[in-house]
Amino acid sequence: MPSTTGLVCPHCGWPDGAEPFQVVSAHPTGAGGTLWTRCACGSLQARVVDGHGTRVVSRGRPTPAGR
Ligand SMILES: [Zn+2]
Repeated sequence: MPSTTGLVCPHCGWPDGAEPFQVVSAHPTGAGGTLWTRCACGSLQARVVDGHGTRVVSRGRPTPAGR
């Protein structure tokens, strides 16, 4: 159950509550973990996973094409 319903990527509109476009790396901890994901538009997102679900805490800019 996502805790951040109604939030979408400001760059491409990908819902934060949906499956991440691409999981870059996952760092599990005892209480949950940290997840780095890349959006469909190329922006890097840091997500914190805890008992309430997944929360996007940081979001980068889309990756320019050709990089
Ligand atoms: Zn996006």
